[in-house]
Amino acid sequence: MYLIPKHSSCLPTSDYLPYLTTWAKPRSSLVDGFRNVWADRFPSSKLYPTPTGRHALWYFLETINLQAGDEVLVAAYNFYVIIRLILQKGLVPIFVDIDSQTLCMDADDLAKKITKKSRLVLVTHMFGNPAEMIAIKKICLENKLLLFEDCAHAVGTLCNTESVGQFGDGALFSFGVQKLINSFGGGMLVLSNKYATDFDLPLHSPPRLASTLDTFSRALTSFLMHPALYGFTLYSAQKAISRWENKLPQIKAVIDPAKDNPDYRFREQERAPYQAFMSEMHRTQLVRLDANINRRREIVALIKGELQSVDEITLLDEDKHGRSNCSYFGIYVPDPFALSNYLSQNGVDSGPQEYYDCASLGQFSAFAINCDNAKIASQHILRLPSYPWMRDTDIENIISTIKNFLQKIIKRS
Ligand SMILES: *Cc1c(COP(=O)(O)O)cnc(C)c1O
Repeated sequence: MYLIPKHSSCLPTSDYLPYLTTWAKPRSSLVDGFRNVWADRFPSSKLYPTPTGRHALWYFLETINLQAGDEVLVAAYNFYVIIRLILQKGLVPIFVDIDSQTLCMDADDLAKKITKKSRLVLVTHMFGNPAEMIAIKKICLENKLLLFEDCAHAVGTLCNTESVGQFGDGALFSFGVQKLINSFGGGMLVLSNKYATDFDLPLHSPPRLASTLDTFSRALTSFLMHPALYGFTLYSAQKAISRWENKLPQIKAVIDPAKDNPDYRFREQERAPYQAFMSEMHRTQLVRLDANINRRREIVALIKGELQSVDEITLLDEDKHGRSNCSYFGIYVPDPFALSNYLSQNGVDSGPQEYYDCASLGQFSAFAINCDNAKIASQHILRLPSYPWMRDTDIENIISTIKNFLQKIIKRS
């Protein structure tokens, strides 16, 4: 059936050319080609291409040389993989609650959680919403803490009027299939100029065949995320796979990477390396970035305008600390799973639990702590589509389906 996907990279077919023709191109300098594309967006930083966004965090943690047992303050509503990396480095995650209006780290709660062992604050611009960087940076300076930004969702996001990624000591960006700029993998480490010594990227050379298949499966996934194909292909596959979840964990990890997997461990060699075609894809997509973000913001504003008066729904304040890129669009609803089911019956895909309250996940129980807002977000946030190719009829369908659903509930009770 035709289904509006919850995310689409909206790549025209011609965008696949750099990938399809890589074999025909000379291997020019990978790092220079990459820096050519990105350098003017981050004038006061050093940039490194990485195999994925999580590799960028891994290399950052290696650069700053913390001691085992040092504490890393991190928002509880998070991608569990990030917490896994912290643990694998022998560090201790200290969960900080979020601001319910932005889904990002709450600066007041951060101030309360600092101890003598605190070393690093890891802030995520969740859903592409800018975090409270001015207050957080002040706390870091006063307490001599390092600051790292997770900008996986946040390319093009502004905090006040400044692009995120240069507020602290480092930042990561991700170019995976679920992200705003998609090159079937790849990531970026942004490192503050104060780390003047040019650090050498570790040599990344996973087995050739595994690497080729890894990139290919991601190229195919993003092709199938095209709105005209999604409902007939990936969505149906995902339904089938979720029925035999344990048998196909690798495929599931590509289609649905955010789902809690207690067995996940970061392995440096498990993913394809950064490749030259990725920079070419970034160049093309960066030209369209502002127009795409404007369209996303327009869609979010339209839907929010219609849902504003609905009592059962609470809206976010995406722009509280700047300008969101609206890469994810979340709303609070009483029962996200029930509404998500109803939406899919009416041709709309949605995400009833995109991220978890990591402070109450079983796999991190040794670090459990009460973070009320993070718990509420993980139980009540529903992600709706906001990709720029959505048609006006798709937007109307989303609005009317949500309203119909809530009316049915009210009638029943
Ligand atoms: C996707 C993502 C990452 C990491 O990106 P990869 O390229 O998949 O390693 C980090 N943080 C958040 C919040 C993400 O959504």
